Amino acid sequence: MQPLAAMTWEEAREAAGPRSAAVLPVGATEAHGPHLPLETDVIIAQAMARCGAARLTARGLRVVVLPPLAYTAAAFAQGFAGTVSLRAETVTATLVDIAGSLARHGFGVLAIANAHLDPGHLTALDGAVTAIRRDAGLAVAFPNLAAKPWALRLGEEFRSGACHAGRFETSIVLAERPELVREGARAGLAPNPASLSRAIRNGKRSFEEAGGARAYFGSPAQATAEEGRLTVEVLGEILDEAVRAELGTGRPT
Ligand SMILES: [Zn+2]
Repeated sequence: MQPLAAMTWEEAREAAGPRSAAVLPVGATEAHGPHLPLETDVIIAQAMARCGAARLTARGLRVVVLPPLAYTAAAFAQGFAGTVSLRAETVTATLVDIAGSLARHGFGVLAIANAHLDPGHLTALDGAVTAIRRDAGLAVAFPNLAAKPWALRLGEEFRSGACHAGRFETSIVLAERPELVREGARAGLAPNPASLSRAIRNGKRSFEEAGGARAYFGSPAQATAEEGRLTVEVLGEILDEAVRAELGTGRPT
């Protein structure tokens, strides 16, 4: 497993091939409560990419990890300072263009390690996956964590839909980048059990409308680095399984 950005073009040429996977971490620059940095989803996506890439490499695949995509559609958070939100069509076009370059240079599969669950973003990714499969001649693995079967493996808080800057995400940042967690703020945060996924189904369009006045849901005070390390392993397994399913060498469970 190698970071593509650190390779020379000749090394990248060597790494490409029909059995080679390029992993793209996809996050957002958006508000994550009073205790987590704006780059939380990027940190989580990079952890998922690293762990998934290590598993695939151990199986004999060639894997490169792309620089992360840190800007995307983030309409739910756009009322909070620091959030950067792109139009869905910009996101889809960006993904399609990245995939086109990878296909041109001979990579066999694009694996999207995504940790951002804004509905507009997921729709943009779905559109990109469809277009890439149709036009780019490249296989795409995109395990949508918000959907079955993957969501079932990510803990009770995640399944409840209170899954933004809560226990799930905070645990991963505690494991990956503890210096970025505002511990003083985190310890005093009351649980916010409002379900973001239910609010989305009910037509709400922002964190404020969904009951997240400070841009968090769930229970950040319950987060632990140990849980975060275990969750990153699960995210890596999910990416591994999704890529193998796409390459026809294994099935998602
Ligand atoms: Zn997040």
